[in-house]
This record gives sequence, structure tokens and C-alpha cells, in this order.
Amino acid sequence: MNQELELNIKEKISHLKVIDTISKVAELVDVKVYAVGGFVRDIILNRERNDLDILVIGNGTDFAKNVADGLGITNVSYFKNFGTAHFDYQGMNVEFVGARKESYDRNTRKPIVEDGTFDEDISRRDFTINTLAISLNKNEFGKLTDKYDGLSDIKNKRIKTPLNPLKTFDDDPLRIMRAFRFASQLNFNVDESIVKAAYEMRNRLSIVSQERTTDEFLKILTSPKPSVGLKLLFDSGVLEIVFPEIAIMAGVDQRKDYHHKDVFLHTLQVVDNISKETENVWLRFAALVHDIAKPPTKKFVEGIGWTFHGHEDLGARMMKKIFHRMKLPLHQLDYIQKLVRLHLRPIALAKEEVTDSAIRRFVVNAGEDLEDLIVLCRADITSKNPIKVEKYLGNYERVMQKVRDVKERDQLREFQSPVRGEEIMQICNLKPSRKVGEIKTAIEEAILDGKIGNNYEEAFKYLIEIKDQFLEN
Ligand code: ATP
Ligand code: MG
Repeated sequence: MNQELELNIKEKISHLKVIDTISKVAELVDVKVYAVGGFVRDIILNRERNDLDILVIGNGTDFAKNVADGLGITNVSYFKNFGTAHFDYQGMNVEFVGARKESYDRNTRKPIVEDGTFDEDISRRDFTINTLAISLNKNEFGKLTDKYDGLSDIKNKRIKTPLNPLKTFDDDPLRIMRAFRFASQLNFNVDESIVKAAYEMRNRLSIVSQERTTDEFLKILTSPKPSVGLKLLFDSGVLEIVFPEIAIMAGVDQRKDYHHKDVFLHTLQVVDNISKETENVWLRFAALVHDIAKPPTKKFVEGIGWTFHGHEDLGARMMKKIFHRMKLPLHQLDYIQKLVRLHLRPIALAKEEVTDSAIRRFVVNAGEDLEDLIVLCRADITSKNPIKVEKYLGNYERVMQKVRDVKERDQLREFQSPVRGEEIMQICNLKPSRKVGEIKTAIEEAILDGKIGNNYEEAFKYLIEIKDQFLEN
């Protein structure tokens, strides 16, 4: 049944120089070698990738050295303690690992590692979809080993652990994040047992470094439809731990006839909307947090209903602490704060009677991020009523038109007469004085009024024509 697949795989990998070299070295030093993990999974899924994971049944670093020598690569990173090595070759990140057996200390996610067999190595892997191996040895090149039925889980789009998920997550709680990240990246379902185990083991995430947790979180946000991973984080109670401010956005209060939209569900939709427009993970992040201060500002006002006054300012202010806690790159803080703080401004500016100076202030505040802000505002429209959506989009279009108009007017204001002050002084025999300015303005007005063209010749001729009127008095 796998024959066709194996042929297909062979076709996809046999032309790769690095694979060829690995096969040759394996023959020479007589060890068993496999392509494993994400590389195999993604080949089967027809996904582009530039990571190649190589499993060596033996010493991974020595083997890597031989392959690097064979390819003429000198820049190899060795991690002798872990028995791993990697190098870049033709845009591919090639990672070697010696087969290992792992046992765990409960206080750290770093395992005690010993040399192991192929079976031991494969069984320590996180999900069945990552347990497939392709032999790279000449005598069985392209042969697929599938100990945990990973192939059918790939076909059925299912994330499952090879062992009991409680043990898998207890050993290394980062796998909780990885499960949801893979689900989001691949648009797979996670097995029910994974959500349950994640719920039970969620406090174990405390032994995982913040950097790694955040890295997985950002990978979820980078995925095609981030709500897949974010929902799983929420359903398993993990979001309360990794991003509590987002988790508490869930829920709706009802008072009298007033209820407000579930802010969490609204936010998920905004994040998915914006992800269709941009790959920029920070713009996506801004979408995730734009309403983050709605829960702490929520107030029920008699006769009006629910209000969230000042949530944009408080939200922006909340960001600093969150950035520090989550170890997010601080150079993105200003950008996120700006988008959160300004996310309501375009709505206010859509009103008819807005002044040029209000628009100008907005342009200055938003600066180079104005386009991104509008992308966020458009994504923020989650109404199911197409007439309303149309109306809101139209509002933003009007604001942008006003922005363009004001910019154009301002540009005209900056424009200068082609005949410069120096020359006016010479021809009119004037010293630097107010009169020089008046003549110059008269030329500019003539151009703006369309009386003369915006060029030197016509401006010069016009100057000669009008200069006496100015010089007489
Ligand atoms: P990606 O597309 O993100 O590179 P990947 O599946 O290649 O996905 P890596 O983190 O590069 O993931 O790891 C390579 C392989 O090593 C995985 O496919 C998996 O088999 C194994 N692995 C990685 N991290 C873990 C872990 N924390 N626990 C168990 N196995 C892991
Ligand atoms: Mg990888």
C-alpha cells in the first residue's frame, strides 16, 4: 500500500546532493541512517520546508562531520553533549542526531540522554505524525518505517501521541504547546486525549522556559488560521497560564436587555481576518491584543448598556508588562502600543465634519504605521450583516480619502515658486524684505489658480508682468 508513496518520496529526495552524500557516507562507515521527523511528515503533506532531520543509529556528530567533509562544508555546529550537529547546505538546515533514549527528571524538561536504538529513539518523539522514518541506506533507500501508524494520522489530519499523552506531557510539557502549534500550522485536529492531558498537565508548563513557550505561541500566531491553536489553548486551560489577559476576554455578561459580544470570540475572528491580509506576526499580535483592556474597563451604564471607556489607552499601557513577562522583543513594543492606542481613531475620523487638523494629527500619530492601522481596523469588522460591513468599510475608505486629500493639500502648501527669492531680489532690485515674499506668493498663487503653468519660463514671464504693481507702492 505504501509502495506508491515510497516511490513518490524517493523521487522527491534522491536528487538532493546532501541526501546522496549522506547515503554514501552511511555505506562507507556502515551505519544506519534515516530522514525523520518534520521532514518526512512535510514531504508526505507536500509542504515546502528547509529543515532536514537526520537520525543516525550511532554517533551523530562524527557522522555529520563526514558528511560535511564530503560536501566541502566547514561551518558545522557540534553539540557533543547532546550528540547533535547541524549545518546549512544550499539553503537547507541539516540537523543530525544520534539515536537516543531519554529519561526525565521532574524538575526540568532537559532529559537524561543515553545512546539508544532506533525503536527507542522513535518512541520518544512527540507525536505520531513525527515518528515516521525514511531509510537513506543504499540497500533500502526510500523505505518508510511507520511504527505508530503516523501515516494514517497524517491522512486523517490527527495529532496523537505515540505513548500515553499524560506521560508525554509530564516528561516534556513544551509538547503541550507543540501539539497545538502543529494543529494550527497544519490545520489538524488534536485527539481528545491530548486536550484532556494538556488540561491536567498545564501547570507543568512552569518548568519550560518562557522563551520556548513564547516561541510556540508566536508560531501559532504565524499559522494560516491562528484561531485553531488559540481555541485549543483556551479549551485546555493553557491560555490562562500563557496569556491570562486573553483568556479572561471570554464570556458574555447579560444585563437587562444588554449583552456584549464575547470579546474572546470576536478577537479570534479579528486575528483570523487579519491573517488573511498579512504575514506580519506583529500586526497579527496587535489584532490579538487590541481589545485586551475591555475586561478591566467594562462598565454597565444605566440606559446606555456596556461601555469600555479608555480601553485603547489602558490596553496600550498594559503591553509593557506583558512584553517583559512573555519575553517578547522590546523593539516591537512601540508599534504594538501605537496600534492598540489608535485602533478607534479612524472610526472617530469617519464623521463628516472632521477638520483638516484632526486628520493631520492622526497622520502624524500613526506615522509610517498608518496603513497597518487601517488593515487592523478593517479586520476588526466582524459583523455578520453585510450591509453594516459595507458601511464600515466605506467609513474607512472615506477616512483614507481625507488623509489623501489633506496630504495633497499639504504638499501644495510646501511647493515653491520656480523663480526663487534670490532672483526676485536681483530683478526687482530689492533687499531681503517682506515684498520679496509677497511677489513670490503672488507667483505661487497664479500657479495654484492655474493662470500660469508650474515651470520656470512662465513664472519668470509672470514676474516681469506683475513686478511693477508691487514696486509702485
Ligand atoms: P518544524 O516544522 O517546526 O521544524 P519538526 O517536526 O521538524 O517541525 P522540530 O522541533 O524541528 O520539529 O523537531 C524535529 C523532530 O524531533 C520532530 O519531528 C520530533 O520527532 C522530534 N522532537 C522535537 N522536539 C521534540 C520534543 N520536545 N519531544 C519529542 N520529540 C521532539
Ligand atoms: Mg524541524
